[in-house]
Amino acid sequence: MIRRLNEKLISKIAAGQIAVSPSSVVKELIENSLDANASTVTVLINSPFNFKVIDDGEGIPFKELPLAVERFSTSKIENLEDFLKLRTYGFRGEALHAISLFSRLILKSRYYMEEVGGIIVVKGGVVENYEPISFSSGTAVVVEDLYFNVPVRKKGVSRNEKQKMKNVVEDLAIANEAVAFKINSIAYPVSSKIERIYRITGKEFELKEKGFLTLFYNTRFDRSSGRVKKVFVNRRPVISKEIAELLRKHHIEEYILFIELSPSEIDFNVSPLKDKVVFRDLANVLQSLESLLNKNLYFLPQFKTVRKVEEETSFDYGSLKLIGADETVAICEDGKYYYFFDIHLLHERVNFEMILERLKEGFFEEKRLMTPIYLDNSPMVVKLKRLGVNVKRDGKRFVISSLPAIISREDIEDILNGKEPESVASSACKNAIKSGVEFVSKLEIEKLVALYMKCREKRVCPHGRPIFYRIKKRDILKKLGRL
Ligand code: ADP
Ligand code: MG
Repeated sequence: MIRRLNEKLISKIAAGQIAVSPSSVVKELIENSLDANASTVTVLINSPFNFKVIDDGEGIPFKELPLAVERFSTSKIENLEDFLKLRTYGFRGEALHAISLFSRLILKSRYYMEEVGGIIVVKGGVVENYEPISFSSGTAVVVEDLYFNVPVRKKGVSRNEKQKMKNVVEDLAIANEAVAFKINSIAYPVSSKIERIYRITGKEFELKEKGFLTLFYNTRFDRSSGRVKKVFVNRRPVISKEIAELLRKHHIEEYILFIELSPSEIDFNVSPLKDKVVFRDLANVLQSLESLLNKNLYFLPQFKTVRKVEEETSFDYGSLKLIGADETVAICEDGKYYYFFDIHLLHERVNFEMILERLKEGFFEEKRLMTPIYLDNSPMVVKLKRLGVNVKRDGKRFVISSLPAIISREDIEDILNGKEPESVASSACKNAIKSGVEFVSKLEIEKLVALYMKCREKRVCPHGRPIFYRIKKRDILKKLGRL
């Protein structure tokens, strides 16, 4: 039932600027459809000033249609208690009213318990028509000539507003994968979250989840399309500087993060657009996210960092003997040469080969590909199989329908082109000691050199940079006039 909120509650709700832009209007309409438990939402955008949203939700009782467009009238909350356990998008009872003030609003609906439906048409706040009609079920809201009576607002509408509207619709579609969406001519059927995300963004993401957090992420940015960075709290798209900062720190290039908290843990009532959120316990949210990000998929050698390199006795590991190191370079000798190692690259090479080893052992979880990869090049197939990639014969061709979690589609291309898989290389790099920033004790560098001695490839890092520079002992002795 739609009722008018009492004055005390009205004053508690940050009322204000509603319907400030066409994209905020379309957002309010879709949110109403979702709040009405629609299973299908259709959005048709003709222009930023003419669009409609149709749903098959529970509808509005005929008698309540005038109330729906009245200010501060809502069926979603009645008292402050309801407000504190809110699970709906709407709660202010302001949107339809505001839209009806600035446009010609046509609201058609049939309540699921009633036989006939109704229509109400309001232009610039004046009711033009209100009568029963026969109507299938659900609600259709048509916005015509938005801002016809507020030229200043109309002028202020940005050039790329249509794109903004599309983004708003897509965000809500990403957050509500259990609802079918039609956006202009594109249909998004009910699907899994990962499939909905793929259909809308065209990107494949890796997944980490724990407790109230679900993170779809990529550590590599696919430049062929726009960068995806989204955070949803209880299905609402929100902006959080702190979360963005934390993800950036962990080299997460693209992400869609879903946070699910009890309504009492959050407050959306801080901005008219409801896109800001105040967490009751932000520190806990950030800490949980941090621990999710640190949930390492695999073990790589970690070296304890120290304040500065101390003098320690040196050990002999086979032929390479460590002489000394600073925060960037380690110097070794093997009797014939002096080696100047880039410590970071040394570590990167060790990590890289360890991950390849793990791949061979089938250590990583498999992730299913939305679209399989077909190959016909047979020598490469062997190489892929050696990396633990599941390549199956499919007639004359070969097909890959899933990949180990750490390998991406682009990696397959890299490998086919004779390059090292970039995702593995970048993971190896990210987990390596940072030159000039982190100091590692000599003992730790010795362990690293020992692991390096077992590497297949010793000259270059996975990106092709030389790991060391060496000088013949003889040449130095010559320069010094000793030979
Ligand atoms: P709010 O969403 O904050 O309640 P609105 O002005 O957006 O305020 O909507 C007012 C009321 O109209 C809602 O509380 C709801 O009862 C009804 N309503 C609006 N849109 C729909 C819809 N698509 N389906 C069913 N009811 C709707
Ligand atoms: Mg609403």
